[in-house]
Amino acid sequence: MLKRTNKSTAHRKFSPSGALVREPASFELSFPNRGTNKQIEEGMLFMPKFSGNGLIPCVTRDVHSGEVLMLGYMNREALSLTIQTGYAHYWSRSRNQLWHKGERSGQSQPVREILIDDDQYCVLLKVHLTSGASCHVGYRSCFFRRLERGDDRTAFRASLSGAQQGVRPLQGIRWAGA
Ligand SMILES: [Zn+2]
Repeated sequence: MLKRTNKSTAHRKFSPSGALVREPASFELSFPNRGTNKQIEEGMLFMPKFSGNGLIPCVTRDVHSGEVLMLGYMNREALSLTIQTGYAHYWSRSRNQLWHKGERSGQSQPVREILIDDDQYCVLLKVHLTSGASCHVGYRSCFFRRLERGDDRTAFRASLSGAQQGVRPLQGIRWAGA
């Protein structure tokens, strides 16, 4: 069962300019302790595994096309906020802070489904892509490059994926953060 606690901070500032960004009150959900393997793998309780650094990986897909958009990480607060607000929140490992996806870039991710894998080690979000792009570089997916097999069959060179070449960065999408 998900039980709300109020031990977490109430409000978060996201704006780099220091302007107060209104966010719903932030509080962490109390996720159940990890159970037996059977409970974890086949039970109906949501028991996400936050690893030693307190993070769980999250694969995010387009709910319509199924395309993988990105891989992110969530701490308890980010996952709680994602569940409660219906918008994807992550933990930014580069900035070391809570990351409300789209708060700066406009590339928000309204969540349509939240799934977890068998051992509850990885979250899967199915989101509705609002801006046409998810990656801060401007592409629909962060996975817009493809490794090509080299002549010696061991060396690979990076190139734009053929499937993505027609999808140029959208004008007006800018990234203010790291
Ligand atoms: Zn990206």
